[in-house]
Parts: sequence; structure tokens; C-alpha cells
Amino acid sequence: MEDIEHIEKEMKLIKADGRRLDGRKADELRPVRIEAGVLRRADGSAYIEWGGNKVLAAVYGPREAHPRHLQDPARALVQCRYNMAPFSVSDRKRPGPDRRSVEISKVISEAFSAVVFKEQFPRTSVDIFIEVLQADAGTRCAGLTAASVALADAGVPMRDLVASCASGKIDGVVCVDLNKEEDNFGDADCPMAIVPRTGEIVLLQMDGHLTYDEFQKAMEMSIGATHRLYELQRDALRRRYSTTLEDILKESPPVPPPPMPESELPPPPEDDFGPEGI
Ligand code: ADP
Repeated sequence: MEDIEHIEKEMKLIKADGRRLDGRKADELRPVRIEAGVLRRADGSAYIEWGGNKVLAAVYGPREAHPRHLQDPARALVQCRYNMAPFSVSDRKRPGPDRRSVEISKVISEAFSAVVFKEQFPRTSVDIFIEVLQADAGTRCAGLTAASVALADAGVPMRDLVASCASGKIDGVVCVDLNKEEDNFGDADCPMAIVPRTGEIVLLQMDGHLTYDEFQKAMEMSIGATHRLYELQRDALRRRYSTTLEDILKESPPVPPPPMPESELPPPPEDDFGPEGI
């Protein structure tokens, strides 16, 4: 244990030029790509690649809540299941729920409960499934950001999308969007999710310690990052639902020309004995 502590203290995460080990600046996000509507069977879906994270999100509902005793006569339930595939991390992860995945599922469903218009769908359930295919720290933020796009893709009425990003402290420097090394050897990690239009915080967690000033800076960085993510989320939805003239032409069958009026038809040949002649 002493050896590990020694290694952790020796690990330099900020280079002499002030950049992080992967070359990012303190307020720089890892590359993010979002795709909406990637699954056929679900009501809504999305896929996100965020640095080394690859996460799928699927949404069903609002549909009748089962088992029935869980139904709320006044509003819909928002339920989430976060799951990490056994092959998502370098050592095989034991399949099935564990304390961590139960906690993440709970905080994500609470975040969405704050934005979904639940009162419009009594006795129903909105079910969100998040499958982490490849993990590299920040999977709850990636999952939540993708699930938000999947909810919009399913047409679930919401006040706004939710975007999520963590920030933390490494080598005493406040940075946004920690990767796996930074998460493991850093001093603090603070995931948060906001409703970009209102600035409301719907998820806030903290692993490690930050001073009041560091926390203020971390919040600022995460909020800045969520605004960038919000643009990417909306872009993904625009790409899914915008139709270009080219798409319309591709989908509609060619229109047959209108029949010619008889008066304009060419006169039949006088001696028509067919292609073979006589
Ligand atoms: P988040 O993924 O939201 O940052 P954590 O801080 O709990 O959540 O996890 C950080 C990272 O640690 C994960 O993204 C993943 O790469 C790794 N990790 C989490 N659980 C396991 C596990 N059971 N086995 C191996 N690696 C794991």
C-alpha cells in the first residue's frame, strides 16, 4: 500500500508546458461524437464516443409501468439502468449490477426526473438503458449526455436536454473532463449535469477534495463544457431529423410523365408490318 501511495505521488499529470499528458489544456474536452437514432427496436437511441469512452443509450416509453404496484397515478416514473459490459475495461468486469452501477443508475434517473414532463403520463414508465461498451473515465457523464439525446429521439416531452461533464483537480490544477489516468491519480473528480437553458444543476457528485475557490473554478469549467456538449447534442438531433431536397428525391419514386393528349400523338406509320418487315 505504501508503494502504491509513493507511485501516486510521483505520477506527474501536468507537463512542463502546462499541458496535460494527452496534450489537452486545462479547459479542453476530449473529442466527442454523438449519433442519434442508432437502434431500430428502441423508441429512441443515441451513441456517443467521448475520448476513449463508447456508450450506447436506448429509451422506451412512456409505456405502462410494470410491475403495476410501482405505478404512480399522478406521474410517470423515470427509470435508468446503467451497465458496463464485461469487455469495457482492461480486466474483465464481472457482469451484472454492483454498488457503483446502482448508484450511477439512481443519480441519472434523478437528473432526468427533473426535466421530463412526468405529470403528462400518469401510471407509465420512461425506461432508459445505458450500456458502456468501452470505459475511460467519465462514463456517467457520457451516458447521461447520450441518454438525453435518446430521450429526445424517443419524443419524450422534456423541459430541455441535459448535458453532463466532470471537472476535477490533477497536480493541484483544476481541469475539465478527466481521463482514466487523471481520474486514478488525480486529487478530485466532480461530475455534474446541467439543464443548459436554465442553468439548473441536476447532478452533482464529488470524489476527493476541492477548496471553495477550486470548486467555483471547476463548476465554471464544467458549465462551459456542457454548453459545448449541448451544441453537439442538438447537432446530432438535427442531423437525424433534418431532410434535404436530395433525401426527398431519393425516397419518392420517379413521377411518370402525364399522358399526351390524342391530338398530339404522332400519326401511326402507314405500312406498319412490324420490326421484321413483310
Ligand atoms: P465514471 O466512469 O463516471 O468516471 P468512476 O469514477 O466510478 O465513474 O470510474 C472511473 C473509471 O474507472 C471508469 O470510467 C472505468 O474506466 C474505470 N472502472 C470503473 N469500474 C471499473 C471496474 N469494475 N473495473 C475496471 N475499471 C473500472
